[in-house]
Amino acid sequence: MQLANASREQLQQWEQALSAEYNAIKAEGLNLDLTRGKPSAEQLSLSDALDGILQHNYITDSGIDTRNYGGLEGTPEARALGEQLMGVPAAQIMAGGNSSLTLMYQLMTTAFFFGLEGADSAWNKEEGIKFLCPVPGYDRHFSICEQLGIEMVNIPMTSNGPDMDAAEALIKADSSIKGMWCVPKYSNPTGVVYSKDVVKRIANLAKIAGKGFRVFWDNAYAIHDLSENAPQLASIWEATKAAGTTDSVLQFASTSKITHAGAGVAFLAASDANLNGFKKVLGIQTIGPDKINQLRHAKFFAVPGSLNAHMQKHAEIIKPRFESVLKHLEEAFGDNALGQWESADGGYFISFDTQEGLAKKVVALAGQAGVKLTPAGATFPYGKDPQDSNIRIAPTVPSVEQVDAAMKVFVLCVKLASVQKALA
Ligand code: PLP
Repeated sequence: MQLANASREQLQQWEQALSAEYNAIKAEGLNLDLTRGKPSAEQLSLSDALDGILQHNYITDSGIDTRNYGGLEGTPEARALGEQLMGVPAAQIMAGGNSSLTLMYQLMTTAFFFGLEGADSAWNKEEGIKFLCPVPGYDRHFSICEQLGIEMVNIPMTSNGPDMDAAEALIKADSSIKGMWCVPKYSNPTGVVYSKDVVKRIANLAKIAGKGFRVFWDNAYAIHDLSENAPQLASIWEATKAAGTTDSVLQFASTSKITHAGAGVAFLAASDANLNGFKKVLGIQTIGPDKINQLRHAKFFAVPGSLNAHMQKHAEIIKPRFESVLKHLEEAFGDNALGQWESADGGYFISFDTQEGLAKKVVALAGQAGVKLTPAGATFPYGKDPQDSNIRIAPTVPSVEQVDAAMKVFVLCVKLASVQKALA
């Protein structure tokens, strides 16, 4: 469908045909859902052997009785698992509780209220501080800033990562910018993997930023590849070491989308100064993490290579769902300008951009036809997509057949909304 060259008559014919198709689908009373960025039950079952794995043996190889209090930084075995996941030496890693989002919230509030480098470094000593937010991005990151009253500034995402010219120019001009959110691999929702050059430029940001600048490097999809020759993410730890800026990056990851979501182990990787600053505040909140769950996870992945083999099983389950989404998008929009998307090699999402001003309409049309989509705008700070074009597609939970059925409706809604716009 090439709208640009079509006559009004042709557009009207298309509109009638698409509306008829849409009304027929509406009458079917479908109930499909592409909103849930979480593992399917089939994926979760891959890790059910975690239950009972300890067989009443609670002592770690390093001799820690995991049933008792203590060990704020996590067990050595769990930190070693963090090393495998994050590619940072275990000495720089803390293994925590069940959620990396909690860790991000704790690091943000520590930096904001108490300071990571002593009380004088607390961000709230300054008025009007800001954070850079590559968009589209992860809504829960944005909610943290919003709750603390940190002003969010949009930075466009490119196919190589955040637009670094824009980020550098803003940071140079404004020392109240205290940090930046990053999902560097299979970014939520664009699926983009940051290029080596972008990683290097991010490692150098602290040199042009005001004091206390911190990049929140949320590597939630560090090993969540869908193809064998998956793109490699350059090490931000090595890049900051080379730049002399190790204090400027806080890295996060978890096993949430590896084992049982929300019942796994979360990790923080950071410089000694940041770890020490955080531990002072964390030690007031807790006596230590759930080390029994840490031991379960260390045992579950004790055999070398088992983590990768496990992730391949996830990929086998997820891949056909992603392929279905991409097939429908390619067939419907491969030869026209009605939509744009990145073909993700991993992660949990495919991000689709309609023509300007149509995302809300497409989400509403799909909803009325029984296909639930993430609300338009959710991928932007304050829920406001200035172009009203981005829609996040999350295909992991429904079956392949359900994804297929939902995508038929999705592409139809995009076409219908686009033709109606052209006629308006
Ligand atoms: N970070 C990103 C980018 C996510 O997409 C998600 C979950 O969807 C999380 C963090 C949540 O991680 P956790 O379960 O470790 O809190």
